[in-house]
Amino acid sequence: TTEIRLASRPTGWPSEENFDFATVENPPLGENQVRVRNEFISVDPYMRGRMSNARSYVAPYEVGERITGGAVGRVVESTSEELPEGSLVTHQHGWSDGIQADAKTFKKVPEIDGVPNSVRLHILGMTGMTAFVGLREIAGLKEGETVFISGAAGAVGTAAGQIAKLMGAKRVIGSAGSPEKVKLLTEKYGYDAAFNYKDGDVRGQLAEAAPEGIDVFYDNVGGEHLEAALAEFNDGGRAALCGAISSYNSTEAPAGPKNMSNMVTRGLKMQGFTLGNYLYAAGDFNEQMSQWFADGKIVYDETIVDGIENTVDAFVNMMKGANIGKMLVRI
Ligand code: NDP
Repeated sequence: TTEIRLASRPTGWPSEENFDFATVENPPLGENQVRVRNEFISVDPYMRGRMSNARSYVAPYEVGERITGGAVGRVVESTSEELPEGSLVTHQHGWSDGIQADAKTFKKVPEIDGVPNSVRLHILGMTGMTAFVGLREIAGLKEGETVFISGAAGAVGTAAGQIAKLMGAKRVIGSAGSPEKVKLLTEKYGYDAAFNYKDGDVRGQLAEAAPEGIDVFYDNVGGEHLEAALAEFNDGGRAALCGAISSYNSTEAPAGPKNMSNMVTRGLKMQGFTLGNYLYAAGDFNEQMSQWFADGKIVYDETIVDGIENTVDAFVNMMKGANIGKMLVRI
């Protein structure tokens, strides 16, 4: 099998030089092991954080180590009773075309007729659950509220907009980085208003889209978006800080928000979160999301790049906004 390893820690934007492609020879299967051929591997923004050695909520990747992360694949050889050949599984072994490991490091997932197995890496998986947890556990979204979502056309954002509506939000506003994405938000994802942050004046555009202010801010971006939300919050507003992608590849320190005093005067709450601390909500998420999904209430997009050799490109281009919905590599 072929796997991708971190060759050196990137400064600023990662490039091909920061990665090595290595060939792995697999020994015969041991007891309770499986060999899996990957169908899709996931490229995610948090991986950028793990390529640096700064303190974070997950340990950094070691130089020389495979880039681990989400993937979905099929068991092609097995000595495990629980995971016979042919089983569809998700796992965290990451950027490789296949993997051999202990059966307990894989999770068997059901297949859904007419639905690609890749949904287990986004809408019915990690990014979908992140959106759910952020709105329910962190922001405590209530019926009739106005929600603003930054990074709205990405994997988490497209899920968040739909979940907010299904949870009874009155008005959902999104921002994204191209006219095409903005159009999709209102036409496909049920957003009531959307704008292109690259047109500038994020605060002015938000104020226009939310004439009655916002109650909940679901932030994937940080920086100017957070600044704008702080200015447009209604009393008692809540921000769920999910990510700050505007600074992930920047070599300068991000500017701090100027409107922090509104936190006090308007009684705002702002809370960052990482999904790993909210895994108790997985049962609720799976139940609720599968139901919505089965009822045809959930749509999604995928941007698929073919071939493991294009993984680094897919990863970097995702952070530059080349994706609509979830960016994936098909093996
Ligand atoms: P996306 O599918 O949203 O892809 C990243 C998107 O970020 C791009 O498509 C691009 O869209 C946007 N972007 C890049 N640079 C900027 C910028 N400077 N300003 C505004 N937007 C920018 O990725 P995910 O859905 O996987 O992740 C979204 C966010 O959620 C990230 O911040 C990620 O770190 C976070 N996250 C947090 C988790 C948690 O547990 N807290 C779990 C999963 C994700 P555009 O064209 O609109 O610029």
